[in-house]
Amino acid sequence: RFDFGGRVAVITGAASGIGLQCARDFAAAGARVAVNDLDPAKVQAVAAEIGAMPLPGDVTDEAVVKALVARVAGEWGRIDYLVNCAGIADEMKPTLDQDIDRWQRVLDVSLRGSYLMARECGRAMTAARSGVIVNLSSIAGLVGLPGRNAYSAAKAGLAMMTRGLAAEWGGHGIRVNAIAPGYIDTPMVEGLLSRGRIGTEGILRRTPLGRFGQPAEISAAIQFLCSPAASYVTGVTLAVDGGYSAF
Ligand code: NAD
Repeated sequence: RFDFGGRVAVITGAASGIGLQCARDFAAAGARVAVNDLDPAKVQAVAAEIGAMPLPGDVTDEAVVKALVARVAGEWGRIDYLVNCAGIADEMKPTLDQDIDRWQRVLDVSLRGSYLMARECGRAMTAARSGVIVNLSSIAGLVGLPGRNAYSAAKAGLAMMTRGLAAEWGGHGIRVNAIAPGYIDTPMVEGLLSRGRIGTEGILRRTPLGRFGQPAEISAAIQFLCSPAASYVTGVTLAVDGGYSAF
């Protein structure tokens, strides 16, 4: 188990799935946690459950991001970890049937949102000469999958932005890494399965470990990347995918 006592973690997309698990696990490891998501009631419920600071708001909105990051830095005086979990799936329709507004929104939440959060948290981190950022990329950013134009572009872009920020901020004492999850048992994946966009059998056949991953297995990898155990790790995108991207 990692000990994050005295540390401050900001987690976006924390009302569901991986972000929710991550928020619970950081709180259990002793960190003060600030939780962001879109729906204020859901954010409030998570905050109440784990004793976190509620930060409702849309990560694609620059003014909102500035205000919520300033609130954490102002009230707690530091930001040690940023975990960018906010993300939306594309519709996984055939390319010829895709909608450009949805395409843009997928890119905006993953790329613009993670960028804005990193830039604003990066102010406190560079001043403190310390901090760790973890972005949520995806196996869809590592291998080509049909119908996933916006999502794959967003997640591959996030992996590259991770490398760029790692290069820029390494000298400021900040490490920046990404996780590329495979198929994880969350409401996002449940939604795609129930709408028939993906199929359980095909996924299990294609995954060497032969099962879906659990949010706790992604959260554990995020904690590793934030911890001193990863003190010389920066700029990587770590696949946590049961081997999906290995071949
Ligand atoms: P999820 O849908 O369960 O949770 C994502 C959360 O992000 C939701 O609560 C949603 O409200 C929030 N969100 C969406 N847009 C937002 C915005 N503009 N501002 C603030 N919050 C917003 O999804 P998940 O499966 O937990 O995925 C978490 C991250 O991991 C995403 O970036 C996703 O793309 C990535 N990922 C997930 C899987 C998987 O298999 N579940 C695989 C690869 C990558």
